[in-house]
Amino acid sequence: MNMEQILPVPSPVSSYWLSQPHKFSDLRSTAELPTQCEVAIIGSGMAGITTAYHLFHHEQPPSSVVILEARELCSGATARNGGHSKVKLSTLASQVSKLGPNGVDELQKFVQGVIASLKQVAEDEELDCELEIRRSFDVQLDDEDAASFKDTYQVCRDAGHTWTKDVSFALPRYLEQVTSIKGAKAAETVPCCSLWPYKFVTQLLERLVARYPEQLNVQTTTPVVEVSVLADGINAITTPRGVMKAEKIVFATNAYTAGLLPQFKDIIVPVRGMASHIVPQVPVHPHLSHTYNITFSSGQAADYLNPRPDGSIVVGGGGSMFKSDRPSWFNNSDDSTRFSSEVETYWENYMQRVFLGWENSEAEVEKVWTGIMGSTPDGWPHIGRVPGQKRQWVLAGFNGGGMSFIPIGAKAVAKMVAGDSDFVDVKDEFGIPKIFATSTERLQKAFAETK
Ligand SMILES: Cc1cc2nc3c(=O)[nH]c(=O)nc-3n(C[C@H](O)[C@H](O)[C@H](O)COP(=O)(O)OP(=O)(O)OC[C@H]3O[C@@H](n4cnc5c(N)ncnc54)[C@H](O)[C@@H]3O)c2cc1C
Repeated sequence: MNMEQILPVPSPVSSYWLSQPHKFSDLRSTAELPTQCEVAIIGSGMAGITTAYHLFHHEQPPSSVVILEARELCSGATARNGGHSKVKLSTLASQVSKLGPNGVDELQKFVQGVIASLKQVAEDEELDCELEIRRSFDVQLDDEDAASFKDTYQVCRDAGHTWTKDVSFALPRYLEQVTSIKGAKAAETVPCCSLWPYKFVTQLLERLVARYPEQLNVQTTTPVVEVSVLADGINAITTPRGVMKAEKIVFATNAYTAGLLPQFKDIIVPVRGMASHIVPQVPVHPHLSHTYNITFSSGQAADYLNPRPDGSIVVGGGGSMFKSDRPSWFNNSDDSTRFSSEVETYWENYMQRVFLGWENSEAEVEKVWTGIMGSTPDGWPHIGRVPGQKRQWVLAGFNGGGMSFIPIGAKAVAKMVAGDSDFVDVKDEFGIPKIFATSTERLQKAFAETK
């Protein structure tokens, strides 16, 4: 085994989203690991399961698919995140100089497509996952940030950039009233989808298992420790339960990708994040109907908030409490422990402190957890054929935004796998931003920049 192997650690802490485990959480379709298959998917998060879904929906579905998962079903970042899909105004504004107007338009259109895809799949498959199409507030409490986004937006709006058309600024004189955020200096809304990602993924798998009992085999608690290519070009996947041959492989391993694909070392880096679930003891009315990203001071990562239909709220971020302690989060794939109790004090009275109307809610922290993201130097995921390989594809490195990129990325990967094709062959059909394409050149550039 590779000495630097990054594998999901055993016994991850639980999260709010995992509070209702699916009956398939420890599914093994067969007692023994199959000896071979047409397509092996490594990873059972949003990326792995939506890829399987689209593979089976392709006009030429594979004859056999095996999903290999190191731990319980969907126990990685997909079960530990903020549960919303959106692209922040700050992201769009910051990319204008790098991607140009067309690039930013392409990015926003892609995320809009992802939101539509989540809704479509949830409705088609009758997934009970609290999916709602909402608006999301980006709120700035810093005057400089507020002014800078406004300026970029104004210039781009005047120039007719399409991405500005679905961004709306809250009226400056009613900011606190409209957002409920104390001290808000600016606020914008963008489209978003809120959902319970674990329920979306596990119920989608349940539908596939029922529909394709002969073709689909799921093996949980089966870590892949090595992948090699045999002389005849077939892949050999080594696990503690034996070796399986696969004609094709999809790496849906996000933060852990470099553990199996050394070319992604230092390119997809595991990064630990923190989130919480806060419950008011006294009902708060009216119900918060938007999701939020709140930036308290310039240059600081935003907190993200997703009000649940029952009146509670998932709140994540808190980076200001731990970012100075780099080993506690960077290159850290340990989601079996939480941050220190000192760091976690951040969540105490959070809602009472930040939101108007919550002062007398007696809101309490019900749960705090950690989760592992796959961070990339340029901030974008890697999607496409694995550089240097013929029958392997990857979709990973989603940073803090997999819910906004994966559903269509997975559809595109399914098409590449079915057609034995490359990113460039499907890019236009799926409207995927070209910055998401993985390639030897991109890896080399990123590697040089990290040195
Ligand atoms: C705290 C937190 C908050 C976030 N908030 C948001 C948000 O609000 N919106 C948003 O869009 N995104 C958010 N994200 C990011 C988002 O959760 C991820 O981008 C997304 O879930 C990635 O999905 P995935 O399927 O690629 O990875 P995962 O869900 O991590 O799935 C990868 C799976 O692969 C398995 N695996 C890995 N290696 C192996 C191996 N060698 N053998 C077998 N199995 C293996 C893992 O066990 C895991 O189950 C957040 C992430 C965190 C941690």
